[in-house]
Amino acid sequence: MPKSSQLSKAAKIASTTAKEPARAGRQAVALASEAAPLSFDTLCIQGGYAPKFGEPRILPIVQSTTYKYDDIDHVNRIMTLQEFGHKYSRTSNPTVAGFEARINQLEGGAGAVATASGQAATLLAVAAVARAGDHILASSMLYGGSFTLFNSTLKKFGVSASFFEPDAPSREIEKLFRPETRVLFGETIGNPGLAILDFARLSALARAHGVPFIVDNTLATPYLCQPFKLGANIVVHSATKYIDGHATSIGGVVIDGGNFDWTNGLFPEFTEPDPTYNGVIYAQKFPQSPFIFKARAQFLRDFGGCLNPMNAFLFNLGLETLHLRMPRHGDNALALARFLATHPRVAWVNYPGLDAKEKRRIARYFRRKNASGILTFGIEGASAGNLDPIRRFVKKLKVAALVVHIGDARTSVLHPASSTHAQLNAAQLDAAGIPQDMIRVSVGLEDIADLIADFDQALRP
Ligand SMILES: *Cc1c(COP(=O)(O)O)cnc(C)c1O
Repeated sequence: MPKSSQLSKAAKIASTTAKEPARAGRQAVALASEAAPLSFDTLCIQGGYAPKFGEPRILPIVQSTTYKYDDIDHVNRIMTLQEFGHKYSRTSNPTVAGFEARINQLEGGAGAVATASGQAATLLAVAAVARAGDHILASSMLYGGSFTLFNSTLKKFGVSASFFEPDAPSREIEKLFRPETRVLFGETIGNPGLAILDFARLSALARAHGVPFIVDNTLATPYLCQPFKLGANIVVHSATKYIDGHATSIGGVVIDGGNFDWTNGLFPEFTEPDPTYNGVIYAQKFPQSPFIFKARAQFLRDFGGCLNPMNAFLFNLGLETLHLRMPRHGDNALALARFLATHPRVAWVNYPGLDAKEKRRIARYFRRKNASGILTFGIEGASAGNLDPIRRFVKKLKVAALVVHIGDARTSVLHPASSTHAQLNAAQLDAAGIPQDMIRVSVGLEDIADLIADFDQALRP
């Protein structure tokens, strides 16, 4: 059950853009405060959208780029951020707003902006904070796309990055902070090492340096972990994975915790006038969540990486079963990991639910004893010079399939060294923690007996 503080926060949901989602959010919570507070599971199904008499029970797909107005003064008030309303679907749309309001409630945030992909969410979050000359400090246990965004592409725009081993001693991480550092970035469950972020330590480091702690919560989802309660300031998701849950749509979302002081002197972009909106000062105009307003008004407008209504509808539908799917993903992954750990053809298994240190972190930081659905393992005898055991295993699978994706209902496998990380040489693979014999498994929702039988027959010589 959400604590009352979480509910009052949800009640204060800053209207991220349009009147509709804000009103819907308030109604959902008003309903909650009259009776018992709504639990996480109920918010998965009813959060973010509260239809009135005669309106569709299901969040409608508003497949429209445009919105009609009667007078130019009204449009002017919207365009100059004096009033909220949909004007053009690049910056807001009622269906997208419904999805944003629901995921915002599930994370316990102060506002959300949905994006065209998870990559677009990470870019939006970072670009709204750091500008040319600034520096990003990020965990080395990162999704490959985030690593190349920080390490290569953003550098071309004058934003530099350094990376820390997330379990390195704090004094080592301290040394990497620079006067121009503006972001501390990590993943709740790191990729590909599957280490759980030490929230207490890293959020304290971010606080001490006056920079926002941005957390990619894709692999955990708010069902397992709510980073704002653990000191994170901004959460990003690839909605493509467990939020969708069925491998139908690409999308992402950025959520603002509303718990960071942008007026601490390091962020003039929030405290100085924005000439592109008649000199609005975000920290003054939107004190509850200046970050999310700036992200939408400035960067969604200019970068254009918005989510489309159809995908927002599908993500919203996906969220309606998140609380049912995540326990099964975790149970299946734990059972498969245990089976693989005893298999004679398996060299090693990595699953946070099997590791003593990671289990302590799950107990400390997660809502549930559940380590999500991703595991990795090594096949006996496979090496850089001999990938035949990998080839044979993948070919023989019948239930699981070779797929460059994670987080959906179907079980998927991938050989990272020859696919997502094929550009890396042997030394780089080593540094990234990707052995040549590694198979990554996204464990789906099938009957675990069928999955174990499938892996067993595929591993046999
Ligand atoms: C997939 C993924 C991303 C990127 O998301 P896309 O929707 O593919 O752009 C970012 N972070 C993590 C942890 C991911 O798994």
